[in-house]
Amino acid sequence: MSSEHTSIQPRPLLIAIDGPVGAGKSSISDEVARRLGILHLDTGAMYRAAGLYVQRLGLDPHDQAASEAAVSQAEISVRYADGAQQTLLNGEDVTGLIRTPEVSDAASAVSKHPGVRAQLVAAQRKLAESTPMLMDGRDIGTVVLKDAPVKIYLTASAEARAQRRLLQYREQGEEHTFEEVLKAVNARDYQDMHREADPLRQAEDAVVVDSSDLSFDETVDAILALVRTAMQKEALHV
Ligand code: C5P
Repeated sequence: MSSEHTSIQPRPLLIAIDGPVGAGKSSISDEVARRLGILHLDTGAMYRAAGLYVQRLGLDPHDQAASEAAVSQAEISVRYADGAQQTLLNGEDVTGLIRTPEVSDAASAVSKHPGVRAQLVAAQRKLAESTPMLMDGRDIGTVVLKDAPVKIYLTASAEARAQRRLLQYREQGEEHTFEEVLKAVNARDYQDMHREADPLRQAEDAVVVDSSDLSFDETVDAILALVRTAMQKEALHV
């Protein structure tokens, strides 16, 4: 006797988190991934490593042909130590070198070039092929992991994001005015949303989490609730 039944193969839990600069994507993503026991891939770190490489070669990161040719020769990868991402450039751990304002500018410039994006998107997809993971960036739900079962667009008002950035600067001993920081946040938003290649936008099937009036813990809880709902609807494994 044979009984007919359809078996649902569980697929790895993949979470895509996109959103503008200063929405807290990195720290929120770190905590959500830690609570779920899955890896967190900060894709911005890979664009930063590409920017650092172009800068080290003394090239203009706005020069598309030169940047694409250079980055195609670079190996940009990640590894994890105690769950924390380390970003590697040709085997060198550059995690501590990619957070300077100069590298931010170079990363922003090289991330406009389609050839650089194609290379890094392919590497990101490969990493997520067989491992449950949370990925954060600008194009994860729209390009990199279009089929991700959980997509979140994490945002906050420009004023709230500028205020948080201002506090971070203060903690680092840097003094800026609120107006300066707000202007920089608005400028980066404009750049991210208006570039030709994979601009930042909300995926149609993404859920918006607006953290303007939420604490860190409340934002983490809101995202975990969305993940748990998705896991109840679909067979997803961690
Ligand atoms: O997120 P983070 O600020 O570290 O990103 C560095 C740069 O890489 C930003 O200019 C951002 O626009 C770009 N980026 C991107 N696509 C991603 C992640 C980051 O273009 N998926």
